[in-house]
Amino acid sequence: MSMEKIRTLRLAHPEPERQKIRLVPVFLPFAGCPGRCVFCDQQLQTGVRPQASSQVLETLEGRLSREEKPYALGFFGGTFTGLDERSQNLFLNLAARFRASGQLQHLRLSTRPDRIDVDTIARLRRDGVDMIEIGVQTFDTDVLRNSGRGYAGQVAEEACRMVRAGGLELGIQLLPGLPGHGEATWREDVGKALRLAPSVIRIYPCVVMAGTELDRMFIRGEYSPWSLDLAVAETGWAVLRFWEAGIRVIRLGLASEREMLAKLMAGPWHPAFGSMVRSEALRLFLQEKLAGRKVSRALLPRRLQGELWGHGRANAPALEHLGISRDRVAFWPEQDIFLDVEE
Ligand code: SF4
Repeated sequence: MSMEKIRTLRLAHPEPERQKIRLVPVFLPFAGCPGRCVFCDQQLQTGVRPQASSQVLETLEGRLSREEKPYALGFFGGTFTGLDERSQNLFLNLAARFRASGQLQHLRLSTRPDRIDVDTIARLRRDGVDMIEIGVQTFDTDVLRNSGRGYAGQVAEEACRMVRAGGLELGIQLLPGLPGHGEATWREDVGKALRLAPSVIRIYPCVVMAGTELDRMFIRGEYSPWSLDLAVAETGWAVLRFWEAGIRVIRLGLASEREMLAKLMAGPWHPAFGSMVRSEALRLFLQEKLAGRKVSRALLPRRLQGELWGHGRANAPALEHLGISRDRVAFWPEQDIFLDVEE
């Protein structure tokens, strides 16, 4: 007669607490960029057309004046520190005015690894910047070359270290699936990003936009994007690693801009990409925690009801193997996960 013992595992969902403050993004498409990276079309990706700085400032000033609740402000879509210093100051001075009047509580900007140095970081810190997001994309020198980035992987690592050493929060943007980027290189990138200990991560799997150099490479047969399944699996794996290290993942995949969708030629884009990845990360988390043990009863937070089974019940077969089937699962309003497992 088998004498299986039932033990209850109590698990906290691995995602670090999300930041409550709302981010007001200001897109400055290609502003300050030294060239065009093969995959990039900021205008399509953000749905924002380049405008004169004076016009952006005027619109921004009006918008910030109407804000009533605390917010964070971010300058994205280009290479902020590639702008001449006078233009940078116009934006930073405007932010400083709204900081002084109270509601602006966090200021961030994005830039390229090869357009940042110790003096610039010190200046930005004096000017009230809290976080620099580095558009790393990959740390792999060959993949960077294939993508027209124009610097080596070491430069990206050094840029990230400088930001933290300069006393600012670090954000890292990664782009799996660039030309020549396979799973092994991606996992090395994730390992490097983890060691650099950013506060936040954004992951945008590489897609092909009409009119980019990547599109021409795709048409010539020199580039194949990752499949959606691969992008979900690899991003899900990475997200779990970041969560477990206490790093917040604040963006998964490109937003569904109408213009972008019309020019999307190929690649792992899906409107539910973020929730597909979160489901994958949850499945992996449960699988790793169970380490071969079977579940006889599971109680999960109600907010995970959709995520547990996955988009189109994609997780269901793998969960079945863990003993997690519909009849054994209940959802409750508490935050922890309780799993009865057979020892
Ligand atoms: S990826 Fe960044 S640096 Fe390259 S063109 Fe786009 S915004 Fe500029």
